[in-house]
Amino acid sequence: MNLDSQKLVSLISDAGVVGAGGGGFPASIKLAGNFSHYIANGAECEPLLHKDIELMERHSCEIAEALAIVKNATDSQKLYFAAKKKYEKVWQNIKPHLEKYGIIPVYLDDIFPAGDEFEIVKEVLGKTIPPANIPLSLDAAVNNVETLLNIRRAIDGKPVVKKWLTVAGEVENPFTAVVPVGTPASHLIKLAKPMIENYAIIEGGPMMGNIVNDDEPVKKTTAGFLVLPQEHKIVKSRTMPIKYVLRLAASACMQCRSCTDICPRYLLGHPIEPHKIMRAAAMPISLPAEIFKNALLCSECGICEQFACPMGLSPRRINRELKMQFAGENIRYQWNGEEVLSREVRDFRRIPSRRLAERLGIIKYIDIHPEFFAKIEPPETLIISLKQHAGAPAEPVVKVGQKVSTDEMIAKVSEGKIGANIHSPVDGKVIEINDRISISLLKMLLHFKMLSTSEMKFYETDSKKRIAHRQDEV
Ligand code: SF4
Ligand code: SF4
Repeated sequence: MNLDSQKLVSLISDAGVVGAGGGGFPASIKLAGNFSHYIANGAECEPLLHKDIELMERHSCEIAEALAIVKNATDSQKLYFAAKKKYEKVWQNIKPHLEKYGIIPVYLDDIFPAGDEFEIVKEVLGKTIPPANIPLSLDAAVNNVETLLNIRRAIDGKPVVKKWLTVAGEVENPFTAVVPVGTPASHLIKLAKPMIENYAIIEGGPMMGNIVNDDEPVKKTTAGFLVLPQEHKIVKSRTMPIKYVLRLAASACMQCRSCTDICPRYLLGHPIEPHKIMRAAAMPISLPAEIFKNALLCSECGICEQFACPMGLSPRRINRELKMQFAGENIRYQWNGEEVLSREVRDFRRIPSRRLAERLGIIKYIDIHPEFFAKIEPPETLIISLKQHAGAPAEPVVKVGQKVSTDEMIAKVSEGKIGANIHSPVDGKVIEINDRISISLLKMLLHFKMLSTSEMKFYETDSKKRIAHRQDEV
């Protein structure tokens, strides 16, 4: 299919496609740039998340087609598909499509954080993106595989109204499913059957996800919901008040520099040294204030906090705090323009996913393969956030009481701002508008088909016993 760049960008913008891997950056803005290398990111490195692997197994053709269409419409000359070597079925399914469109396969090791754009670009092009920069600085653009599927659908005029995600952790029936945007976490967790009462919910993966309430709706960037005991170390590391985090840093950091030695960004050659930030945070007068600015280079991957530190300290939380302060003062990191070379020891210091899961205390969930469902029973009300992407919130174009149809635009990107359009995933009625649009499903017009008998069983049986995938069409 041949589209010119302007038409492609316009279709993607109309459909509200944003980075589905977590960043939420509008895809139309990314693809309006000039780049020679276009990379499909299928790394999915956060432990317990399975949504990209399920998507790649089922939609390899659309992913490859999206890459080829973007290549034809832009200046890109080389296409790459990067995924973990261990995804045998994905490689088997996508091989003919890679050959058809001349896409270069890139086999990734099973390490964390393989899916970080900086890591992917390093693996594909052999170069480090400079500090505080983006892949475009190396003439490249990267899109997550779900974003590519959404781009392919946008070309056919279909907006983004569904999300692939995994629900896992302390639940009887962990699953991966395609769900309407706006589905509350509580609805999905109820379907998964929590095995404990006092649990915390993490939106995203155990390394980079955030704690959310159970009314948190699925957004275009939601990769999953993890159910963990309140006392789990992953939960505690996120809920400890920052004043205690700082006090612990001052009293317990022994300057072993383990956090720096295996920091992925340090290993890529960036001038971030979290042990120095810890020292500066504990004794602000002992090091130049400039040290703090290096916190702006932290990806918040969590390796220092969850894997490296023998004292259970959190350079990540301190970096995050510093980044918020700098953002409030509009202070940015300025790269001096020098070439960045990765550290020689990088290859020996990367963290295998299984070792990471052991250290995180989630190894008992790792070998349970969540069952896949192409559809789930929808909730009665969807809560659709107006800010589920980078940039400004979308502006509602509907009113309370108005009936809306599936795929109809309900909020649009503000004039002159970065953002994304939002569409209704269902036929329904708008019942409330604030910073979210609540849509009550019209029972008579349910978009989703009745559940099949086998799908009903999902709600009754123990999925731990079922390792095989369901091969539903999505
Ligand atoms: S969270 Fe820690 S390990 Fe990760 S980039 Fe930041 S300082 Fe480095
Ligand atoms: S790993 Fe922990 S104890 Fe060692 S320097 Fe870093 S924060 Fe301090």
